[in-house]
Amino acid sequence: MAFNRRKTTYHRRKVCRFCADSSIVIDYKDPRMLRYYTTERGKITPRRISGTCAKHQRVLTVAIKRARNIALLPFTTSILK
Ligand SMILES: [Zn+2]
Repeated sequence: MAFNRRKTTYHRRKVCRFCADSSIVIDYKDPRMLRYYTTERGKITPRRISGTCAKHQRVLTVAIKRARNIALLPFTTSILK
């Protein structure tokens, strides 16, 4: 009973959200979108978790850092909460 299932157990590749939908613009003025790519502690979600490609991860990182600078996103979770 040599059931060859090698091809059926296909590892589903995570596709970059920005590549999949070109209408999404990475905008540092959109903290709600950027927050999706940060952890609850305010850290940027690693590429292997978010599935974002290198190109978009780079754009995203810059956007998040920019957003932090103009205080749209926290550097870490606020203690004042
Ligand atoms: Zn991408």
